Amino acid sequence: MVTLQCDSLHRPISYLRVSVTDRCNLRCVYCMPEEGIPLQSHEDILRYEEIARLVRVAVGLGITKVRLTGGEPLARAGLVGLVRMLAGIPGLEDLAMTTNGTLLAGQAVALAEAGLKRVNISLDTMRPDRLRTITRRGRLEDVLAGINAAQQVGLTPTKINMVVVRELNDDEVVDFARRTLTDGWHVRFIEVMPLGQGMCGAAGEYVPTGETRAMIEEALGPLQPAALMGNGPARYWRLARAEGTIGFISPLSEHFCALCNRLRLTADGRLLPCLLSDGEIDLR
Ligand code: SAM
Ligand code: SF4
Repeated sequence: MVTLQCDSLHRPISYLRVSVTDRCNLRCVYCMPEEGIPLQSHEDILRYEEIARLVRVAVGLGITKVRLTGGEPLARAGLVGLVRMLAGIPGLEDLAMTTNGTLLAGQAVALAEAGLKRVNISLDTMRPDRLRTITRRGRLEDVLAGINAAQQVGLTPTKINMVVVRELNDDEVVDFARRTLTDGWHVRFIEVMPLGQGMCGAAGEYVPTGETRAMIEEALGPLQPAALMGNGPARYWRLARAEGTIGFISPLSEHFCALCNRLRLTADGRLLPCLLSDGEIDLR
C-alpha cells in the first residue's frame, strides 16, 4: 500500500501531467506564435518506454492520476501504444488526456480500448471562422466530431475547456454555458494567462472569473454548487435542471497554490514542480 507523498508545504502530490510532445497541429493565439516554437529534436524527446518507466516510479511514490498533454498529444504517432503501457501500471487509478480534439475522432475507439478513461477537449468558440482565427488552422467540424466520438466511446465525463479572452470570444460565454442545459456538456471557463509565447495575457484581455460568472447568471439564472468532479483547481457549479456542470479555473483572480497537487513532466524529461517557478529537475 502506497502512502500519499506530501511536499514541504504538506500538499499531497498525487497528479502528474505528462507532456508527450512539444509539437502541435494548431497555433492558438494565446499559446504559440504563428510560426510555431523552436522544436525539440526527436532524440531529445523521451521514448514511450521511458515515459512509462517514469510513470511507474511516480506511481510507486504516490501518484494516482496521470494526464497526457502537450503540445498536442495526438500529434505524436503511436500514442495509443503509450496509453496501453500506462493503463497497465498497477496503482494508476486515473488516466486522462487534454487535447484540441481535431485528431480525436479517428482515434477515440482505439484510445478507449487501450485504457484511456477521459478526455478534456479545448474549444474556445462555436463559430467556424472564429475558430480559424483563434487556432490559426483548426476546423470546428473536426473538434465537434472529436467531442462526439469521445462521448460515444465512453471517454467521459468529457470536459470542454474554454479559454476566455476579452473581445475575442467572451461574447460566447453564455452560449457555452447553455450547452450544459441542452447537451449535457461539462464546460470549464479558464482565465487566459500570460504564458509561453502566446500573444494574449495583457491585463485588458483577461476576463476575471467573477465577470464570466456574472454573465452566465444574468442570462441563465443562479449557479448552484455541484459535486466536486476531478481533483484539480476547478470549482464546479450547475444551472438548475442542467445535466452538465460549469467549472471555473481562475489562476489569476483566485490563486490556488495552496491546493496544488501536481507535478509536470516535459516531453524532454524535465520535472517541473511549479509553472510559475524556474525550478526543474532533469530526470534524464
Ligand atoms: N493541445 C492540447 C489542448 O489544446 O487541449 C493540450 C495542451 S494545451 C497547452 C492545454 C490547455 O492549456 C488547453 O486547454 C489550452 O486552452 C490551455 N492554454 C494554453 N495556453 C493558455 C493560456 N495562455 N492561458 C490559459 N490557458 C491556456
Ligand atoms: Fe496547440 Fe493546445 Fe497550444 Fe492550442 S493550446 S496551440 S492546441 S498546444
